[in-house]
Amino acid sequence: MKRLRVRVVGGSLGGLFAAILLQRNDHNVLVYERSTSGLGGRVGFGRR
Ligand SMILES: Cc1cc2nc3c(=O)[nH]c(=O)nc-3n(C[C@H](O)[C@H](O)[C@H](O)COP(=O)(O)OP(=O)(O)OC[C@H]3O[C@@H](n4cnc5c(N)ncnc54)[C@H](O)[C@@H]3O)c2cc1C
Repeated sequence: MKRLRVRVVGGSLGGLFAAILLQRNDHNVLVYERSTSGLGGRVGFGRR
């Protein structure tokens, strides 16, 4: 399969899961996450 350059916007559950699966399939993956206080989104990891 052709190796793709993939950009994922959002590094919470959905984004990270997709990124891991893509990277395991040898694609070049970069995740953009806007939060500066830890990954989380609606799950709220890293929030105090
Ligand atoms: C109160 C509450 C309780 C919940 N309880 C449960 C539960 O018990 N069990 C369960 O299975 N699910 C639960 N959910 C649902 C679960 O949290 C969501 O389904 C899950 O978080 C969705 O993940 P996601 O990665 O799609 O989106 P999100 O978690 O919303 O993450 C999106 C990410 O994208 C980033 N982002 C957004 N825009 C940009 C941008 N322009 N550039 C860069 N980054 C960006 C955000 O910062 C964030 O990190 C709950 C949700 C809430 C609100």
